[in-house]
Amino acid sequence: MKNEFMKYAYFKGEIVEFEKATVSIAAHSLQYGTTCFGGIRGYYRDGKISVFRLKDHYIRLMNASKMLGFEFFVSWEEFKKTVGELIKKNDIKEDFYMRPFVFCSQPRISPKKAGLDFELAIYLLPLADYVSTEKGGIRFMSSTYRKYSDAAIPTKAKAGGSYINSFLATSDAQRNGYDEALMFDNNGNVVEASVANIILIYRDKVVVPDVGSDALEGITVRSMLELLEYNGYEVHREKLDRSMILTADELLVTGTAMKIVYAESLDGRPIGTEDYSARGQAGKYYKLLKSEFEKVISGEHELSKKWLEIF
Ligand code: PMP
Repeated sequence: MKNEFMKYAYFKGEIVEFEKATVSIAAHSLQYGTTCFGGIRGYYRDGKISVFRLKDHYIRLMNASKMLGFEFFVSWEEFKKTVGELIKKNDIKEDFYMRPFVFCSQPRISPKKAGLDFELAIYLLPLADYVSTEKGGIRFMSSTYRKYSDAAIPTKAKAGGSYINSFLATSDAQRNGYDEALMFDNNGNVVEASVANIILIYRDKVVVPDVGSDALEGITVRSMLELLEYNGYEVHREKLDRSMILTADELLVTGTAMKIVYAESLDGRPIGTEDYSARGQAGKYYKLLKSEFEKVISGEHELSKKWLEIF
């Protein structure tokens, strides 16, 4: 991901130059990770900007703020208006990524909540494809760091501090020569990747971890599952273990940044069984979802209207 931010951001209730949106080094959110955030993609097609499932991202952000007890709320109308103003002010003519987040900038030396005020900020950056599968799929390592449980931190909130878990897991995977970490819970169930959800094709069935697992409820995976259902496939929600991954037909990885990619291997063992020569390669479900999703974001799918917010 290129760190080339767009010129204008939303900060303290107004649109300001990105460089001017700064906080104290003692800010509560910087010390204790007390933020929740969203990651949203926007596309520039035929002279128009369309944002993918903006309202669903807004709802998840407000739910996160609620789960974390931040006592911050902005209405959908206000949020959408701000996003529209930011898009206009930045005069966007390319695909981009948008990061809204709720945070507290007050300087504090204790994590306690009394007297804290939370607020919204949004910044944007250009973002083309994040992960390329030209050289093959993702090579996963089974993470030695477990995914934290919902009993410790709300797993359905994208809570800033909780990303220490993803940081440790991906750093470890990459230090060991892999692309990504596959996260397990304390019982050995497969949960998700470090910053993306998974879809397993197992014995010709589409299987994903149940909603009550410790995975984030990804908006992209939800869309991919709806696309599978649209194409007549049934989706099953179950517990997944490592043996299922190692004997699966396909393992797909999906999230806002990467859209959809396929996994090539787990711990050096190729994914896919039926046709030995096709192991570790792009499978039919991956190809279907990639082409369906491209249609959606180009406005050519029946579901485009439902999912794209046009600015
Ligand atoms: N899991 C985690 C831990 C993530 O950070 C993300 C990225 N937001 C996802 C899954 C995928 O979610 P989404 O499709 O909403 O981007």
